[in-house]
Amino acid sequence: MADIIADNLRLVNERVEQATIRSGRDAGACELLVVSKTWPAVTVAEVVAAGHLSFGENKVQEAEGKIPDLPEHLRWHLIGHLQRNKARKALPLFDVIHGIDSLKLARYCANIATELDLNPDIYLQVNLAAEERKAGYCADQLKSELDELLSLPGLNIMGLMCIPPAVSHPDDARPWFAQLRELRDHLEEKGGRQLPGLSMGMSGDYEVAIEEGSTIVRVGSAIFGKRDAL
Ligand SMILES: *Cc1c(COP(=O)(O)O)cnc(C)c1O
Repeated sequence: MADIIADNLRLVNERVEQATIRSGRDAGACELLVVSKTWPAVTVAEVVAAGHLSFGENKVQEAEGKIPDLPEHLRWHLIGHLQRNKARKALPLFDVIHGIDSLKLARYCANIATELDLNPDIYLQVNLAAEERKAGYCADQLKSELDELLSLPGLNIMGLMCIPPAVSHPDDARPWFAQLRELRDHLEEKGGRQLPGLSMGMSGDYEVAIEEGSTIVRVGSAIFGKRDAL
């Protein structure tokens, strides 16, 4: 298992680098986040042993059990929507939060971060296709709340995150990734400051996402193999 995981990691890192170069950027301009949800600490430790240090989890409770069993110098990202009632627990655990999708939630997190003297990196989640089952800002709401979001203390707003609708071919996701980048460009102009981060791309489509400007791809099954259906 350890050999397979190390091989997968090497392959994905190579592909990330090649796609980044294809996109006209420096080789290291896109980060790989290894999504470790559902995998136990012993399995995550194999990826750490292969030299990787940043991991994504989507459930606060699961992460709470796993993080103490792994080395302290790892960097943990919460991916997916953050529930308000989990925020107080989540903020001390995670260095990066990818799922803030309302001003109310952002204000609440800003208060906790200030109180606990934390300064998490934040990606604002956007629901590009306005899918009912998915969390995330609709673009217009985000445009209208941007100024206040950027003025909140305690939160380091990096940029945008999306989980586009499922597609049958990776290339079909390209327009969604381009749309997130264009929204980001618009917000940068409107907000008068840079939003360098684009958290987009998963196992099935990360190379396409990088070609469209992703700065961090969230990859799970291409490293660990298939998760058990939950
Ligand atoms: C599970 C998950 C991923 C990783 O998915 P894979 O297809 O296994 O790479 C990425 N982002 C989010 C938000 C997830 O929940």
